[in-house]
Amino acid sequence: MTKKTTRQATRLVTKGRDPEANHGFVNPPVFHASTVLYPSVEAVKARTQKYVYGRRTTPTTESLELAVADIEGGYATRLTPSGLAAITTSLLSVLNAGDHILVADTVYRPCRNFCDAVLSRLGIEVAYYDPLIGADVAALMKPNTRVVYTEAPGSQTFEMQDIPATAAAAHAGGAMVVMDNTWASPLFCDPFSLGVDVSIQAATKYIVGHSDAMLGCITANEEYWPVIKKGHEDLGQCAGPDDIYLAQRGIRTLAVRLNQHMANGIALAQWLEARPEVERVLHPALPSHPGHDIWKRDFKGASGLFSCILKPVAEPRIHAMLDGFTLFGMGFSWGGYESLVVPFDPRPYRTATQWSHEGQGLRFHAGLEDIEDLKDELAEGFERLNATA
Ligand SMILES: *Cc1c(COP(=O)(O)O)cnc(C)c1O
Repeated sequence: MTKKTTRQATRLVTKGRDPEANHGFVNPPVFHASTVLYPSVEAVKARTQKYVYGRRTTPTTESLELAVADIEGGYATRLTPSGLAAITTSLLSVLNAGDHILVADTVYRPCRNFCDAVLSRLGIEVAYYDPLIGADVAALMKPNTRVVYTEAPGSQTFEMQDIPATAAAAHAGGAMVVMDNTWASPLFCDPFSLGVDVSIQAATKYIVGHSDAMLGCITANEEYWPVIKKGHEDLGQCAGPDDIYLAQRGIRTLAVRLNQHMANGIALAQWLEARPEVERVLHPALPSHPGHDIWKRDFKGASGLFSCILKPVAEPRIHAMLDGFTLFGMGFSWGGYESLVVPFDPRPYRTATQWSHEGQGLRFHAGLEDIEDLKDELAEGFERLNATA
């Protein structure tokens, strides 16, 4: 067994591995499994053996679940085939017809689509709230409010929610708190110490870390673990062993990767902030960010994902800038080793808040390339923008 350790970088390397149980091999074996054989009729009836069915748990799922639960600071974890499935599975596990859910207006857009399409169809009342209201979420609580759903910072626009204040108000009103903790990864935010009951990770992003697999994690505190475990099982959720293996491999290097994503992200954000073409940079680790103090209080670091808003310019200039990039790919899933950029406009999918910026929003993911090459590429992009009519 691994030694008792308390420091996170060490736990990332050791948790969920047991070389002694696997002939000394460093990495856990990958079990491809459906049928599990039972030694006797008695065993079939009793179902007391540790593994009973491939969908339920295998040593492969278990090793990643143990590592994630430990690092994120929750009681236990279940895996899903995507981050979105982790969101939908947790909400379907706890909500009943007639319940009310309060969702931060700046959540990951497919979460919003699920709430509007599926939860509404099931007779669950969905309402959105301004993520900056903090404790004032109390005024929106109803007797049937079952879940307050949070994400910090907000998707694409990076508003910092005050999670402890929001959670305290939710609990006082009898609701539970779910947080999408993908941005910080389990390394840079401990949602359970902030009062969260269930935490979601799109492991697709930084845990897998190489843009080559889809995976989600649901981690719960002890109080909500039974209902999450049961919902996950009843909904038939499970993840593929080879994808879990890629996440097991990814999580071992999470600390070194994330520290470099953070350094490159902050350097790019600062560089952009000094550019005349840029109206604002949205990065919680910059002192200019309105949520900087909350970020400093609640988070241990920043990932490589942030946005900026350009000063208004004609559309062809934006195309000239983005289409000419070679290091910054244009694509949506992030958290891999490579840099990305996507244009965004949150106006069509915000209802409780207003987006008043006229300029183009650009979301960046700072990859692990040399920072000087990334800055050169951005500088060339601005040259193309400025040279276009
Ligand atoms: C990508 C993402 C998800 C969904 O993860 P998938 O694995 O792509 O389904 C959920 N939340 C956030 C914040 C994300 O960025």
